[in-house]
Amino acid sequence: MDPQQTPRGEVIPLHPRPRIYARAEHPISRKQISENALKVLYRLNKAGFRALLVGGSVRDLLLGRQPKDFDVATDALPEQVRELFRNCRLIGRRFRLAHVQFGGEIIEVATFRAAHEGETDAAAMTDEGRILRDNVYGSLDDDVWRRDFTVNSLYYDIADFSIVDYTGGVEDIRARRLRLLGDPETRYREDPVRMLRAARFATKLDFEIEPATLEPIARLRHLLEDIAPARLFDEMLKLFHGGCGRASFEMLRRHGLFHCLCPLTDKALDGAEGEFVNRLLTSALDNTDHRIAEGKPVTPAFLFAALLWQSVEDETQVNLANGLSPIEAVQFAADTVISKQVARIAMPRRFTSVTREIWALQPRLMRHTSKRAPRLTEHPRFRAAYDFLLLRAAAGEPVQEAADWWTQFLESDEAGRAQLVESASTQGGDARRPKRRRRRGGRSRRSADDAGA
Ligand code: ATP
Ligand code: MG
Repeated sequence: MDPQQTPRGEVIPLHPRPRIYARAEHPISRKQISENALKVLYRLNKAGFRALLVGGSVRDLLLGRQPKDFDVATDALPEQVRELFRNCRLIGRRFRLAHVQFGGEIIEVATFRAAHEGETDAAAMTDEGRILRDNVYGSLDDDVWRRDFTVNSLYYDIADFSIVDYTGGVEDIRARRLRLLGDPETRYREDPVRMLRAARFATKLDFEIEPATLEPIARLRHLLEDIAPARLFDEMLKLFHGGCGRASFEMLRRHGLFHCLCPLTDKALDGAEGEFVNRLLTSALDNTDHRIAEGKPVTPAFLFAALLWQSVEDETQVNLANGLSPIEAVQFAADTVISKQVARIAMPRRFTSVTREIWALQPRLMRHTSKRAPRLTEHPRFRAAYDFLLLRAAAGEPVQEAADWWTQFLESDEAGRAQLVESASTQGGDARRPKRRRRRGGRSRRSADDAGA
């Protein structure tokens, strides 16, 4: 809301009154709220502070979804929160947050915040630029306006179990509409990551991005290039490991946002092998979504392997043409491509090293007729590499024969395995070089396997 200035230059923020939804007017029951979050809310409230659930948890409960976590907003200062809870740690510097820890669950408690980043100072300064008030902490009706979307700006008040809605968030939830607070262009310029958040929430909640929130994205998406790569890594995990990775990918591509995260992959998607790259990626993401739905572990190393596979291959061809040996050509290609990608998304080395192993195992999996093939199954990355080989086959690379052989091998008992190894080696087939077959829907090409990575 626009602040109003008095003749002496002091600033009085003007806020509309919130719409209050009493307990009988909304479906959120305390039974759906984590016991630990309730403990925090009640104790703050008993000590005389305001205490409200805020953000994703209120939104998800209104939608009938299970919240990922429960965040609390309060007028207690961080030090006051710490005095109330033994199991509490303060984090952050300028804006300190309290983390109250209960076994594996952390309840994040944030003191109401005043101005949102970037806007700070006009509102808080006199004409001479003197700071009139501390613009870090504020009241509930300050806190609401620095949030991103209306649906993320709802509060559940433990004092009377009502929902406090300053922004029309409840109506937007009912209409399944994603709407930024304030002027969209200003809000994206303040924090370009909000463009990625728009794509993520629209996908995950199956909401429509309202036109004024959508419109500036095409003009402003390049601002994402200046975001710290470490922050983009966090966002990438939320986008691709949040359970709807494939839909998020498609949404990002549709709005030209994917390019800002993965420029090499984006280029490959628009290149001669685009259809293949798209098949490989969408199956990798489907695979990830299924694993998450089944509660199985996932690693960003696998996703990186799929995202960058074509780029490594293209770079390998360039290196070969420049006269490098096949082994060097592939290794240098992997170095180049990974270092370009981590300049954009800071994937930690413990993951990129696994990505390299998955790639390095691909040509070894092609040599399944060797008597030593069974030993590969003991490699710590065998399973990931085998899964990757299946993806490549499904996407149309000429590696189906090897993929089938390994599948049969893995499904056989010991005697069956011995027989498979025996018959493969007596056939004398050298599967090292796959026959050049046309890829389904793609042109034939030399593969990184040929180079013997
Ligand atoms: P999720 O279910 O993915 O956790 P969430 O809405 O809880 O969704 P968080 O990233 O956990 O999202 O952030 C918590 C709340 O903090 C948001 O609901 C929003 O109100 C506020 N917030 C987070 N990031 C931003 C941002 N970049 N700009 C403005 N407000 C933000
Ligand atoms: Mg959250």
